[in-house]
Amino acid sequence: MGLKYSNKINKIRTFALSLVFIGFGIMYVGLLFKETMWLMSTFMVLGLLSVLLSTVIYFWIGMLSTKTIQVICPNCEKPTKVLGRVDACMHCNEPLTMDKELEGKEFDERYNSKKYNPEK
Ligand SMILES: [Zn+2]
Repeated sequence: MGLKYSNKINKIRTFALSLVFIGFGIMYVGLLFKETMWLMSTFMVLGLLSVLLSTVIYFWIGMLSTKTIQVICPNCEKPTKVLGRVDACMHCNEPLTMDKELEGKEFDERYNSKKYNPEK
């Protein structure tokens, strides 16, 4: 296959975490413009917004986690969470599917989209 897939929840979590750092980064840049009030406030607001956004995303992950299905990965035998029709194992990135029809088929994240149908 060659392509690397990773678990969606892990991906979103990484994104939310980096957003916190980006937010603090922006706020720090804002401090460099102490002399220019409007510029500093703009950076502060932007930084605060990304920190807030990551909080929202963390909350959203929490909601998503309740909807995921816990399965035992056939590859590494650890419990992992599957989100959507296809997802990858949280521990070893083994592609997993919840849909019997897709079993044995090449892993494709597009299967998560309802519009995508390779047969047509
Ligand atoms: Zn695994």
